[in-house]
Amino acid sequence: MTLANLDLAADVDKIFADLGVSVDRYKGGTLAVRSPITGTEIGKLPEVSASDAKKAIDAAHDAFLEWRLVPGPKRGELIRLLGEELRANKAALGRLVSIEVGKITSEGLGEVQEMIDICDFAVGLSRQLYGLTIATERSEHRMMETWHPLGAIGIISAFNFPVAVWSWNAALAIVCGNSTIWKPSEKTPLTALASQAIFDKALARYIADGGTAPKNLSTLLIGGREIGEVLVDHEKVPLVSATGSTAMGRAVGPKLAQRFARSILELGGNNAAIVTPTADLDLTLRGIAFSAMGTAGQRCTSLRRIFVHDSVYDALVPRLVKAYQSVTIGSPLENGNLIGPLIDKAAYDKMQAALQAAQATGGRVVGGERVNETEAGDAYYVRPAIVEMPAQSGPVRDETFAPILYVMKYSDFDEALKLHNDVPQGLSSSIFTNDMREAETFVSASGSDCGIANVNIGPSGAEIGGAFGGEKETGGGRESGSDAWKAYMRRATNTLNYGRTLPLAQGVKFDI
Ligand code: NAD
Repeated sequence: MTLANLDLAADVDKIFADLGVSVDRYKGGTLAVRSPITGTEIGKLPEVSASDAKKAIDAAHDAFLEWRLVPGPKRGELIRLLGEELRANKAALGRLVSIEVGKITSEGLGEVQEMIDICDFAVGLSRQLYGLTIATERSEHRMMETWHPLGAIGIISAFNFPVAVWSWNAALAIVCGNSTIWKPSEKTPLTALASQAIFDKALARYIADGGTAPKNLSTLLIGGREIGEVLVDHEKVPLVSATGSTAMGRAVGPKLAQRFARSILELGGNNAAIVTPTADLDLTLRGIAFSAMGTAGQRCTSLRRIFVHDSVYDALVPRLVKAYQSVTIGSPLENGNLIGPLIDKAAYDKMQAALQAAQATGGRVVGGERVNETEAGDAYYVRPAIVEMPAQSGPVRDETFAPILYVMKYSDFDEALKLHNDVPQGLSSSIFTNDMREAETFVSASGSDCGIANVNIGPSGAEIGGAFGGEKETGGGRESGSDAWKAYMRRATNTLNYGRTLPLAQGVKFDI
């Protein structure tokens, strides 16, 4: 089927009808949504006003006051049901992700699988949420830590992981005893609406099974950046987890700090890989191809820079160029296509500007041109670009959210490592090597300065079990697995005296 013949609006109607979402919730409003697959409008959602958003946040705070009293494992039961509902609706939500963001089918489904995985993780966590018992210097005393729910948690998400990022935050926040308020990207409100409907199904089952939960436990606010600002400024929101560009983090971070609220900032990356003389080049080629071209270069962890040792440069780079020239581009709904569209024209324009700047600084560009233009003039499909650069300069230091891979040659490992770290961002990184010293150095204190450092795997495609996030201009936040849950709770240190005297710490005397 050609792009022009696709009826995506009908697809959307069917998905929402199956989810029980009425048409007035995604049509007839003011926020227009276009599918990047065809460039056509697939929804027009009603937007919340700033004053209604404030009221909704007050209501979410009230919900928190009740929910914090529900025992952790019972809170986990709600998230277990959410995982079940996501399993039941995986195909529909995955397809909607593909339609709204342009991800190929396996990636759309993969995003929903990530939501299921974090629910499973959070259910186990709901029976833990443990603190330490700590040795005390005073006899007949006990010192311990307790972890308490924090409040109504704000979640601001980006277009490129329109639903997984919400679930990473919401599943943990809710088992930790908090309510949540979600402001999704204005480019992807349909998948947010669908996720909220799936959450509501889980909640209805939880209540039907005898569970207690307050109203407004999970709130969705549809709107633009100004609604995000309401969330950031509201005194009853003690933590905002904000995913998006570094520019957004620069605006949001100081405002939260100003009112002593916490932030989890998950911002832009400029991820690199070092390909060393001992690299397995077949594996390296596949690792680079998926990380750099997959999702049309629109992952925060997409591979954007590679440093290739001069002894393997000629064996690898021509093969890579060939892969770039032959990769299948087209409708992400069609099996066999690996590269879908860019999100919109603005993304295409930024890509072209970066390629021109690279050429102006001596870069040799292959690819980057628009394809399928005649089939769908308002959709922006591009051939991924591979750019051989003489040095790490110009646009190489920026994150351009598009499939551009800058290739640079190196001869000295220490120099490559230095260049690898010499960018403002610090999200994800890789080394391809079979040399144990290089691998260990890369993941050591003097190696990669990123939040994620991989060996013989590309930088993208993280699992939910590990903490996710990056350093420097990536914002420093961590979410998802490991002990990231602690950010959604407040820690209290308790000292209990079960004796009949009152010894003071540090030998202090105060006898009255
Ligand atoms: P964006 O910064 O344009 O928007 C992200 C979200 O922030 C949207 O919901 C937007 O409405 C909101 N927003 C923007 N300015 C705001 C403000 N001043 N106050 C409150 N809210 C505001 O990002 P995008 O184009 O949707 O997404 C792409 C970017 O996100 C890339 O830079 C990518 O690397 C980054 N990203 C990072 C991660 C990560 O985990 N590190 C994950 C996904 C995407």
